[in-house]
Amino acid sequence: MKEVAQVVTIAGIDSSGGAGVNADLKTFHNQGVYSASVITGLTAQNTFGVQDVLPTPAKFIAEQFDSVFGDLNVKAAKTGALFDDPTVKEVVVNLKRQHVQNLVVDPVMVAKGGAKLLTDEAIHSVKTLLFPLAELITPNLTEAAVLVGYELVDEGAIQRALHDLQAMGAKNVLIKGGHGQGKKIRDALLLADGRIRYYESERIETERTHGTGDTLSSYIVAGLAQGKTLEAIMPAAKLFMQRAIADGIAVGHGHGPLNHWV
Ligand code: PLP
Repeated sequence: MKEVAQVVTIAGIDSSGGAGVNADLKTFHNQGVYSASVITGLTAQNTFGVQDVLPTPAKFIAEQFDSVFGDLNVKAAKTGALFDDPTVKEVVVNLKRQHVQNLVVDPVMVAKGGAKLLTDEAIHSVKTLLFPLAELITPNLTEAAVLVGYELVDEGAIQRALHDLQAMGAKNVLIKGGHGQGKKIRDALLLADGRIRYYESERIETERTHGTGDTLSSYIVAGLAQGKTLEAIMPAAKLFMQRAIADGIAVGHGHGPLNHWV
């Protein structure tokens, strides 16, 4: 029988198929890893935005963890949309109970259409309880500013934020530059040993970016499950994102999904 690296995504479902768990599973499949899913909530959404959300009852989150970890050999995991404070706390308890390694935390807060995917109350638990379990956290510029409490207006502020976020307990910190201005997108990675690496790419002018954060964090999880280092994964991850965004597919009439067949 063929051996395959196994991962789990702990995230919400996008009814229109472009973001959340739907993007995660397509990315994992593309990268040749097998993924289970612990569903943290449902969303009624399409490429125009999120119309409604329904968080999973805490007890059922625990049951999904028990089912998955009682059977599969999970090498890496990610968290995506966690919706509310009880969900964050239940996920934290179960991540600890299962001794989950190689955890990537994507601190999803607001969807591109403006809908909240994390309550303000839950942000505190994400910082104090979830980040200390993370191998890597992947905030965008907007999320990083909320987490540290100041605007990331220049290079100096970004460097300060990288260190402030690492001080919250995450081993490695990636601040994604996609939400910034300008022709170039610059992602900044602070490694566990204190080195900072920058990854630049050309900005692609398109509306079809639904699910970009989910796709990037999943790509990184796949690499970690296959035993790669963050420094080895990042350049390939950037190229993958460029291609998935540039080769857009005609689905929906708003912020359309990426092309995961690249
Ligand atoms: N819906 C779900 C369930 C998500 O997990 C996410 C992002 O993580 C989104 C929507 C937001 O996607 P975007 O901001 O790319 O539109």
